[in-house]
Amino acid sequence: MTANEGGAARVLAGQNAMKDWQERFYTTVHEHPELGHQEVKTASAVAEELRGFGYDVYENVGSTGVVGILKNGEGPVVLMRADMDALPVAETTGLPYASTAHATDRDGNEVPVMHACGHDVHVACLLGAARLLSETTDAWHGTYIAVFQPAEELADGAEVMLKDGLAELIPRPDVALAQHVLPFPAGTVGTRPGPFLSSGDSMRVTVWGRGSHGSMPQLSVDPVVLASMIVVRLQGVVSREVAPGEFAVLTIGRVAAGSKSNIISDHAELELNIRTFSDSTRTVIVDAVHRIVEAECAASGSPKPPSFDLYDHYPLTDNDTDATGTVAAAFSRYFGDQAVTLERQSASEDFSEIPDALGVPYTYWGIGGIDPETYAKAKAAGRVSTDIPANHSPDFAPVIEPTLETGTAAAVVAALAWLGQAR
Ligand code: ZN
Ligand code: ZN
Repeated sequence: MTANEGGAARVLAGQNAMKDWQERFYTTVHEHPELGHQEVKTASAVAEELRGFGYDVYENVGSTGVVGILKNGEGPVVLMRADMDALPVAETTGLPYASTAHATDRDGNEVPVMHACGHDVHVACLLGAARLLSETTDAWHGTYIAVFQPAEELADGAEVMLKDGLAELIPRPDVALAQHVLPFPAGTVGTRPGPFLSSGDSMRVTVWGRGSHGSMPQLSVDPVVLASMIVVRLQGVVSREVAPGEFAVLTIGRVAAGSKSNIISDHAELELNIRTFSDSTRTVIVDAVHRIVEAECAASGSPKPPSFDLYDHYPLTDNDTDATGTVAAAFSRYFGDQAVTLERQSASEDFSEIPDALGVPYTYWGIGGIDPETYAKAKAAGRVSTDIPANHSPDFAPVIEPTLETGTAAAVVAALAWLGQAR
C-alpha cells in the first residue's frame, strides 16, 4: 500500500458513519428538484453543510453556484465540480422519494421537474467527499475546492460562474475533476483518456415562404414543403459527407410551421442538434447545413434569406491523458476490476469550460447507477437498451447504494491522487 492508498482508506473509513445523512440529503434533493438557475433550495442546503464542515463558502456565484474551499496547508490544489440542476420531466419511477414538483422554465412555461439526469447523485457524492476530507485533514494536504454548478442542462451554468469571477475566487487548481452517473452497473467507475463526451450544438433555422389560402397554393411559397425537403436532404450529411467511422450525429428534433389546415404559413422553423468528437467534423456539418438550407430556399423561390441561430453550445470534453492516467491508476488500486475503461459517450457537458478557462488539465469519469443484478439480467436477455432507463428518461432511477458509496469514494480517491502525496 502506498501513502496514497493508505490516505484513501483513512479518509473513507468514515463513509459508513455518514451514510444516513448522505442518503437523506440525496432523497431530499431528489424529491425537490429545481431547474437550472433556480437551484435556490439545493444551493443553500449545500452551502449550509459546507459551512458546517469548515469550508470557506461563496454563494450565488453566477446565479445559484456555490463554491466551498478547504485549505489544509501547503500542497496541490484540486477542484471538483458537481452540477445541481434538474430537467423538465414528469417522474414516473414510483420511488417513495419521487418528485411531484413543478416550476416555470426560462420560456415562461409551467413544467414538471425531475432529477432525470442524476445531478442529485453528483451533489450528494461531492458533498460526501467534502465532508470526509474535512474530517480527516491529517490524511492529506493542500486545498480542496468543491464547485456546485447551476444549469448544466441549459449549457450556460459553467459560463455564468466564470463570468461572475470564479477564477478570482479560488486558488489556481492543479487539476479539475467531475463525474456523471450513467446507465451501467452501480459499483463500477469508468475513465477514458482523450475525447470522452461529444461537443453539442443546437441550431434554430428559420426559412421563409409566402403565405396564402390553402386552396390557392399557386400564390404561395409553401414553407412546409421547403422544410420537408430540408429534413430529408439533411439526412445525407452524416451518411454522405462525414467519413465512415468518424462519429457524428445530426438530429432534427423539432419542425414547426403553420396554424391550420387551410392556411399556408409564411415561415417554418427547424431545430437541429449536432454532436461530434472533433472540431473539423463539426465544421463539415455546420457548413453542410448552411449550404443545403440556402440551396433548398433558392430551389423553392423563398422570398427572404433563411436565418441560422446556434445556441446551447457544449464544448468537447477531451480528458487530459496524464490526469486521466493518474485517476485511472488510483481507481484500479481502490476499486479493482470494478474500475473499467468506458467507450466515448455521445452526451455533452459544459464542465470543461471551467478548466479550459483556468488553463488547467481535467478528467471527467462515469459512475454506474443501475442495480447490478437488474443490469446483469437485462444484459443476459439482450435487453439493456429497452429495459434500462437512461439519463433523461422519466424512469431514470439510480439505486441509492452502491451508487452514492461509489461516487463518493471515486471523488475522494481521485482527489487524493494529488492531495494524498507524501510531503
Ligand atoms: Zn443531462
Ligand atoms: Zn447530466
